[in-house]
Amino acid sequence: MTERHSIGRREFLGRSTAAVAAGLASRLFGKTLFGEVDSIEEAAARVGRLPRRTLGYSRREVSVIIGSGDLASAPAEAAILCGVNYWHKANRWTRGEVPAAVLKNRDAHYVQVTVDRIGGNHETGRIDEPSHYDFVKDVLKRTGLGYFDDMQFHYGYHNKREIKNERGFVRAFERLKKEGLVKHLCLSQHGYAGNARVPGGESAAEVLTAVVEDGIYEHAQIMYSYGHDPEINEFLSFARKKGFGTIAMKTARGVGRMRQDREFMARLPQGTAPHNALVRWLTTATEIDAAVIRVRNLDEFVETFSGAGKSLQAGDRRALEMMTARADRTACRLCTACQPYCPRNIPIAEILRFERYALDDGDWGKARTLYSGLDRRADACAACGTCVAHCPQELPIPDRLAAFHSLIYRG
Ligand code: SF4
Ligand code: SF4
Repeated sequence: MTERHSIGRREFLGRSTAAVAAGLASRLFGKTLFGEVDSIEEAAARVGRLPRRTLGYSRREVSVIIGSGDLASAPAEAAILCGVNYWHKANRWTRGEVPAAVLKNRDAHYVQVTVDRIGGNHETGRIDEPSHYDFVKDVLKRTGLGYFDDMQFHYGYHNKREIKNERGFVRAFERLKKEGLVKHLCLSQHGYAGNARVPGGESAAEVLTAVVEDGIYEHAQIMYSYGHDPEINEFLSFARKKGFGTIAMKTARGVGRMRQDREFMARLPQGTAPHNALVRWLTTATEIDAAVIRVRNLDEFVETFSGAGKSLQAGDRRALEMMTARADRTACRLCTACQPYCPRNIPIAEILRFERYALDDGDWGKARTLYSGLDRRADACAACGTCVAHCPQELPIPDRLAAFHSLIYRG
């Protein structure tokens, strides 16, 4: 492991504890760039109209940043004013929470229902046609949305074999489509290579390539962030050539932690901010069609969404270099490349995904609940270091696992 890539347990704990003390969810630094926003209308005016791109075989025009059913109401309203017209995880809305503008002008929005496996989690659960069919009907009743534009298979397939042999999700979709309740099929895809709870699991890029070749799904959400990711970049080129749509998720790798670091923020080039540079890059310099990015309030909405479709300036490029160098030392990109090599079958990528929820999003409750549900946790790590040699970032995995384990029940 190089020194550049090393972060000690003490440093991790120091940074993390400081962040916890500061409340993590608060936006500590970077206010000088965009200022504070007082109203939804002001936020929308600062962002302006979002560009749109065609998505998937249907060639639907969608905003380059999409909304999500778990977006807080103020940024959701501002997003609608800026032209956000695709809503991921709309099943998170109850009837009273669906934005009035979506209900009033239903056909102007593309609304997605996200459907999980049943009888377990994304690793152990199963695909079951009647359950998926019933779930979508129940959500339609609960939300009053009338129909869903997209039915998304949450977390995706475990391997190529499952795509061919387990057609229950597709059958549920086809039944609902015949009834006019859904229109398009999509998935979000995680990686399962080397996952001890998923025999025969394969990487996200392998599975996604097979999904495109299968020809039934029309677009996918994929984990994608700044930094070097040749496997996913190759998939993106392939998808674009085929007309298959792509939406980036889990994009803000390590950004929450950066924003808590006064010294790092002070070193960023004048006029730049991490979320803004990230969105400029995603929407103008990659082969991604659209992106979903978590924002928690109107200030973050302005900083993030105002980068959409704007070209990268020299300062943004430098900011991205700095962000990449830092995130490569501290934040997992969830590629699962290390996973097959752990002799103790520690779910490394899962644990480091939960670490991101805690340290970047400040969502300790979610991280704790998910972590508690694992059958093998970080304290089973033998600190052998085998995984580190297979991590493209040379992330100090054992240190991070140990530090996360000691923090998670205190955060
Ligand atoms: S250091 Fe821990 S996580 Fe990495 S391979 Fe060894 S036991 Fe597995
Ligand atoms: S620890 Fe490294 S190899 Fe493992 S999933 Fe994260 S980035 Fe990939």
